[in-house]
This record gives sequence, C-alpha cells and structure tokens, in this order.
Amino acid sequence: MVAKKYNKTTLKKFRELLLSERRQIVEDLDYQKSELNKTITDGTGELSSATYHMADVGTDMAEREKTSMFAHRQAKYLSDVDEALGRVDNETYGVCIICGDLIEEGRLIAAPIAKYHVPCKETQNQRNHNQ
Ligand SMILES: [Zn+2]
Repeated sequence: MVAKKYNKTTLKKFRELLLSERRQIVEDLDYQKSELNKTITDGTGELSSATYHMADVGTDMAEREKTSMFAHRQAKYLSDVDEALGRVDNETYGVCIICGDLIEEGRLIAAPIAKYHVPCKETQNQRNHNQ
C-alpha cells in the first residue's frame, strides 16, 4: 500500500499559507509583548499614586492576564505551525495522523495546522472530553 500524500505543488501552496500564518503570529506576539510591558508600567504608576483606584488596578490585572493568556495561546499556535511546516518538509503534511487518509484541502485551508481529518478529529475530541 502506497502512503497517501499531497503532491509537491499542493505542499508548496500550504507552505506559503503556513509561512504567512507564521508571520502574522509573530507580529501579533510582538504587539502583545509591547502591550504587556506598557500595562505593567502603567499599573505600577497607578499603584503608587492612588490606592482608591484599586478597582482600576484589578481591571488592569485582568486585562494583563487576558493578554498573557492570548500570548500563550499564540505561542502554542506558533509551535503548531512550525510542526506543520516540518510535516510539509517530510511530505506528511495533510495526512491524517490517525488513519493515514488525506485531510480535505478545504479543511486545511481553514485550519492549516490540522493533523486529523474531520471524523478522526471528532473521535479525538470525544476522547479529550472523557479525560
Ligand atoms: Zn483520519
């Protein structure tokens, strides 16, 4: 049985897609990082000047939490994208890692880091739920 895989032209197209996705994430992360630093600086100034602004500080902290969670997610996504680029290189990209079938091109365009095709993804989700 010959392993299924996408042809080089298609793989090249997805490499482009992943690379542009990657650029976007790096930009977002840089932006988030500068925002995070700004918030920390502002928060400190706020604390020393007026304690009755505690509510505001709380909001700032929640905001900071949100930003850092977002940055965390982006960093995770970045490593997923890098992983996917690795799969493009060894020509296993677009192949469901569970059943070895090709993942539909439309799904890959919508979710370029997809590792499972839809039926296997659903099985996987159910498994995660049960954990
Ligand atoms: Zn599958």
